[in-house]
Amino acid sequence: MTKYIFITGGVVSSLGKGLTAAAIGWILERMGLTVSMQKLDPYINVDPGTMSPFQHGEVYVTDDGTEADLDLGHYERFTHSKIDKHSNYTTGKIYREVIQKERRGDYLGSTVQVIPHITDEIKAAIRRGASSGCDVAITEIGGTVGDIESLPFLEAIRQFSLEHGPQDTLFIHLTLLPFLRASGELKTKPTQQSVGKLREIGIQPQILICRTEKPMTPDMPAKIALFCNVRKEAVIEERDVDFSIYEVPVDLIKAGLPQQVLEKLALTPKRDIALDDWFQLLETVKHPEHVVEIGVAGKYIELHDAYKSIYEALTHAGIANRAKIRLRKVAAEQVATQGAEALLTGVDAVLVPGGFGERGFEGKIATIEWARKHRIPFLGICYGMQAAVVEYARHVCGIEKATTAEYAPTAEHRVIDLMEEQKAVTQLGGTMRLGAFECRLTPGTISREEYGAERISERHRHRFEFNNRYRGQLAEAGLVIAGVNDKHDLVEIIELPREVHPWFVGVQYHPEFKTKPQQPHPLFRGFVAAAVERQRRPVEV
Ligand code: GLN
Repeated sequence: MTKYIFITGGVVSSLGKGLTAAAIGWILERMGLTVSMQKLDPYINVDPGTMSPFQHGEVYVTDDGTEADLDLGHYERFTHSKIDKHSNYTTGKIYREVIQKERRGDYLGSTVQVIPHITDEIKAAIRRGASSGCDVAITEIGGTVGDIESLPFLEAIRQFSLEHGPQDTLFIHLTLLPFLRASGELKTKPTQQSVGKLREIGIQPQILICRTEKPMTPDMPAKIALFCNVRKEAVIEERDVDFSIYEVPVDLIKAGLPQQVLEKLALTPKRDIALDDWFQLLETVKHPEHVVEIGVAGKYIELHDAYKSIYEALTHAGIANRAKIRLRKVAAEQVATQGAEALLTGVDAVLVPGGFGERGFEGKIATIEWARKHRIPFLGICYGMQAAVVEYARHVCGIEKATTAEYAPTAEHRVIDLMEEQKAVTQLGGTMRLGAFECRLTPGTISREEYGAERISERHRHRFEFNNRYRGQLAEAGLVIAGVNDKHDLVEIIELPREVHPWFVGVQYHPEFKTKPQQPHPLFRGFVAAAVERQRRPVEV
């Protein structure tokens, strides 16, 4: 029978709740247990698809085409949980279901209310999120305890635990111990108050994970235990990591978390936790053989979370190449005004990520032109691939006015354009080409070699496509069509031949969503290998 862990957060946001939840899933899997992971988000948007990355960080995409919270990325990188449309529910998505039922007449006669209708729907969502037969289903509640929006979710998990056996559900609360420089001490009061808030609504957390920059003093767990009504051993320290987020699970194990979880849920592990391979991975992170600098020219560069999966994919690829990745983040807009030479000279490779809208597009073009001409390894993702096509069309193929229909819908040479079915779309949310699509790789290409397979499946999130009307002309001019989706006849990958450029690949999809620390994505691995190679033997230009 599946056991349930609910993870809430207190005191402040951005405590790394998603990462901690993922690390707990990782630990359970290392004990031979199967897990599933889910995130409940209290905001009203049906999904984060229409939110600005500046507000919410990247939009994560699942195989089934769900646009989801970026914490799902942590879950997929750390665990083998199935991740799909049931892995992320928002207030909007829950209310949409309830309102649809009400309109259908499902509640005929009743007044539809937060309790029980909304809370029932949340409980159903929690059950749907747990993959059938898994040992432990972990549900993270977004937001911070005390927020108005979180209340129905907290009420639902309270009811949920009451409806299950005492050892079938577990509440873990993640909290902060702020360090006051003036008095030189960690403070427990915010934790006490946050737990107090939870207890007011009937939730008694059984484990507290305390985020802290300094180690707790020996008397602190007992003090926190006393004021928060938890056992002393269940007060777990989670200190800021020194060099890698992949230290988090190891630190939680050292702090005694696994025993607490097993005990509280009356679970028996299927095997002892083995960590040798993980320690080896951390060793590589700590003592790399190379340091390569990757220029990332994007629109949302100020916010690390906006390209979270891309940075993680680079880290994984770095580990595979025994290389530390140094990022040089440049605002694409600035490349347009200051020039690529000024901002990117010295980097070992260039990545142009996805994006939307006009701003930054010309800067992306300038970045790509520079990388192409200087034979610097290049990876273009989604909008980055589209920009690479436009750049090639303009500067190599001689279609001077080539552009994308995204901001020039009536331009003559839209080498990137809307498909017919997209032209009919009237609402923005959930209407892009979303989720997993197959791609057939062309023999002899870089991609075919890196993937080591002929057919692959990758996740998409975009509205515009390579315009097939220009396919012949661009191929004639030397652009390699390295991957296509046969079913819809769509170009998925473009490359430059190796004779012209050592490593130049643009992909219409988002490879960054399919990578794990010990299984780096093949394209990222190849891209970083090319960066290492360039550093070792700079190419003559
Ligand atoms: N804006 C482009 C499109 O919609 C690319 C999207 C992206 O980079 N994710 O097609």
